[in-house]
Amino acid sequence: MVRASFNNRQAHFYSALKEEVDGYFKSKNIKPTGNWLLYLKTALFLLATLSLYVVLVFYTPVWYVALPLCGLLGAVSAFIGFNVMHDGCHGAYSTKKWVNETMGYSLNLLGSSSFFWKAKHNLVHHTFTNIDGMDEDIEPIPLLRFAPSQPLNFFHKYQHLYGVFLYGFVYLFWVFFADFKKYFSRKVMETPINGFSTREHIVFWLSKLIYVFLFMVVPIYNVGFVLFLVGFITMQLVIGMMLAVVFQLAHVVEKTEFEDATKADLKIEHEWAIHQVRTTADFATGSPVVSFFLGGLNYQVEHHLFPKISHVHYPHIHPIVVKVCERFDVEINKYPTMVGAVLSHFRMLKLLGNGATAGNSAKQS
Ligand SMILES: [Zn+2]
Repeated sequence: MVRASFNNRQAHFYSALKEEVDGYFKSKNIKPTGNWLLYLKTALFLLATLSLYVVLVFYTPVWYVALPLCGLLGAVSAFIGFNVMHDGCHGAYSTKKWVNETMGYSLNLLGSSSFFWKAKHNLVHHTFTNIDGMDEDIEPIPLLRFAPSQPLNFFHKYQHLYGVFLYGFVYLFWVFFADFKKYFSRKVMETPINGFSTREHIVFWLSKLIYVFLFMVVPIYNVGFVLFLVGFITMQLVIGMMLAVVFQLAHVVEKTEFEDATKADLKIEHEWAIHQVRTTADFATGSPVVSFFLGGLNYQVEHHLFPKISHVHYPHIHPIVVKVCERFDVEINKYPTMVGAVLSHFRMLKLLGNGATAGNSAKQS
């Protein structure tokens, strides 16, 4: 098993960032966890999910109304993931552990496992960001090449065209395959998953059963198999596409860097926080609408530096992070608009599909 390590002995950059950001919360006399805006969003998205579910399953409208509503249910589910689950699983939603756990369980309600998400996302992705061989977010599947160090095939030349269709199946793959792979292997790629207690076994299987019952059995019973299948697939395609695109905009774009730990141990010469800034990108930071719906995932640099701070604070700590980065001459990767970031992601897929391999960063090729 290969390993990656950082040079954290003199983490001056992170110390300076932390001091300034801690100072912000002290001066405002506020907690870094969620506030009324987060609670409002939680209520709004959960209520929308419940209403859409009841209408679709028990008062099913004609198909041309039902189908867009299934898509909307998919979108609202993704918003719960971005806003509620993500903050909860990072322990950023509340100062109370049980509140964070409960919010994290919104992911279980949507078919996946908050336990494995925490292992995959908090532990692995947030530490080994964009390190090929360790970060599951850029794990190559045969049809997609996400990093310059990954094997190239002739069909990758077209991945910027077919990639988005595959993204549609990401969530189905996650719920019905990736979770079970982690369950039986007890690993996220190379990293072992520890602490899987009897309670977690029960929660895992119970969540899967409840999901199958609520989102498959009950709808089939009420609307029939064909309508269920069309509606279910529509919902899953929307969730998958939204999750994949939004998370990819943070790391697989032209400005971000990649590292390779597939062949030998990787010693990164700079501190962890600098690695986070180099491998991550912000987008549309001036848009309150994007911030509202995407759970602050447009402030990914801030999120990767301070994952335990609720996303509702990111617009306020963004200028502080910019200032400290300038002081340490660390460049922040940034796209002014979400459309710009989406275009950059697909250009990056094209670059990688054409064999971008130079150095640590595909942008050099
Ligand atoms: Zn995160």
